[in-house]
Amino acid sequence: MTTSVDSFADLGLSESLLKTLAEVGYETPSPIQAQCIPILLDGHDIIGMAQTGTGKTAAFALPLMESIDIKLMKPQALILTPTRELAIQVAEALQSYSKNLPGFHVMPIYGGQSYTIQLKQLARGAHVIVGTPGRVMDHLERQTLNLDHLKTLVLDEADEMLRMGFIDDVEWILEHTPEQHQTALFSATMPEPIRRVAQKYLVEPKEVKIKTATATVAAIRQVYWQVSGLHKLDALTRILEVEDNFDAAIIFVRTKTATVELADKLNARGYSAAALNGDLNQQMRERVIEQLKSGALDIVIATDVAARGIDVPRISHVVNYDIPYDTEAYVHRIGRTGRAGRAGNAILFVAPREIRMLRTIERATRQPIAPLTLPSRTDVTNKRVAAFKEKVAEVMNAEGLDFFANIVSQIAEEQDVGAEEIAAALAMMAQEGKPLQIAGEDPVPRPAAFRDERRPANFGERDSKPRFEGRGDQPRFESRGERPRFDDKPRRPPVGGDMVRYRIDVGRDHGVQVKDIVGAIANEAGIESRFIGRIGLYDESSTVELPAGMPAEAANALKRTRVRGVPINLRPDEGRPDSGGERKFKKKPFADR
Ligand code: ADP
Ligand code: MG
Repeated sequence: MTTSVDSFADLGLSESLLKTLAEVGYETPSPIQAQCIPILLDGHDIIGMAQTGTGKTAAFALPLMESIDIKLMKPQALILTPTRELAIQVAEALQSYSKNLPGFHVMPIYGGQSYTIQLKQLARGAHVIVGTPGRVMDHLERQTLNLDHLKTLVLDEADEMLRMGFIDDVEWILEHTPEQHQTALFSATMPEPIRRVAQKYLVEPKEVKIKTATATVAAIRQVYWQVSGLHKLDALTRILEVEDNFDAAIIFVRTKTATVELADKLNARGYSAAALNGDLNQQMRERVIEQLKSGALDIVIATDVAARGIDVPRISHVVNYDIPYDTEAYVHRIGRTGRAGRAGNAILFVAPREIRMLRTIERATRQPIAPLTLPSRTDVTNKRVAAFKEKVAEVMNAEGLDFFANIVSQIAEEQDVGAEEIAAALAMMAQEGKPLQIAGEDPVPRPAAFRDERRPANFGERDSKPRFEGRGDQPRFESRGERPRFDDKPRRPPVGGDMVRYRIDVGRDHGVQVKDIVGAIANEAGIESRFIGRIGLYDESSTVELPAGMPAEAANALKRTRVRGVPINLRPDEGRPDSGGERKFKKKPFADR
């Protein structure tokens, strides 16, 4: 291994944070964390280049939390993220790292959320603000956000902010923050404008780049499944059941907690599985590996460190349940299969936001990883039926069937039925809690229309949950909650589904570009940018196509949205003569209401 550090304790973090990390289940720092944390703790500015899923949040969050003065209820750190989902995620991550930091307050602020709520929360105070550039800028302009006590500024996913057209806002914010603070810039790529911002606003930054060393991997069949439609656990059991030549597997996850949880769940589903993590002492660890060798266990769920050096020839499959942080870890992981001249299989689960890491792995290993089609219910049923038939054939060859044959004859006579019917009844009885047919529908994988995979609603998070009024008492729906809820509709309109065209009051004359419009709309309405349809730029106005069925709340947010300081006043496009656009969509906007 190259520069990998085995322990968070080596990085200079406080006891209290180390304790928290153990509680959260983090065992070892990821490469970006190992490199960035000491530098940030030393007070340097930093440019970190690493992809999604490499653990950047903790890389900047942990050092930043060390510097917070809890007694001072003022924003001491500001984290800018391109989208509101990321702002929420990062805020949640900080919240989870603050377990042993009583009184710590982190606050996400983002477009689309009501100002009233934000103002109230800002007035109450927070130590860390996580926000999207537009809204942060707004609050700075209104002087409802004060950065006089700022110690750390983080630009998370800087290239994404550029892509969404926020770079000017980001620069504006950088211009309006006090000089004395540490700045950390994270980006998967370093396009010129980002480089320029770094040069202009960072002071002697240290650069950290996660290398992707090329490596050859043995002749292992490598496939990936893009997570969608089905839970990872269900996908896993389907795959394991249908895979040919399944003998034993190592399943890799990120946290100690996950090893235990997954082992429990797999045991509950009838597998013999055990967790292997850094909490086990050497003796327990060896026992697990012995059991895997002997066949007492078929599945071991492990973290990277715990699985290092495992050499068990019967491991036919390695499953990357959580994607590894880098290609090196990937190569180490899949090297646990295909040993002693046997065939090996490596299966990788890839969340939509991790696709880039998949491509990096392919490049580094110079091998394509083929997409895996998830076995359908029928596939699983067929497999189970085949196994069942085999078992029946086996039993028919066994001794001592006469006694049972006699019972069957008796039933046939007494009930006046044929042997086939009786056999069918017995087959049904023989399922033993594991039905031959799996219930339910096969999910139709559809792309997520909205950024946050965890959030099922169509538009934005505000429509996906009940809204609360007042404090502490019974939750009350605001009156708007009584309207038909969009939650009940088929979720996630497919790309290219019904689109409605809208008109907005900004155009070329305002210096607006397509990306500005995409960025603003994506954030304010919570629509993932790829679901935003064609955009027509005209001199004084523009048109934009959005998925049909937009809830009123999102529409309202969009009416008030500003692009380049101009309120866009979004409304259904009536096809003004000057628009130059033909009316393509017969569907009445907001027809669902
Ligand atoms: P990025 O910002 O680079 O996309 P995140 O910070 O969101 O990555 O981390 C991705 C996932 O990895 C999160 O679920 C996080 O909890 C987990 N994670 C991060 N660091 C560690 C670690 N050292 N050990 C285990 N899990 C980790
Ligand atoms: Mg991140």
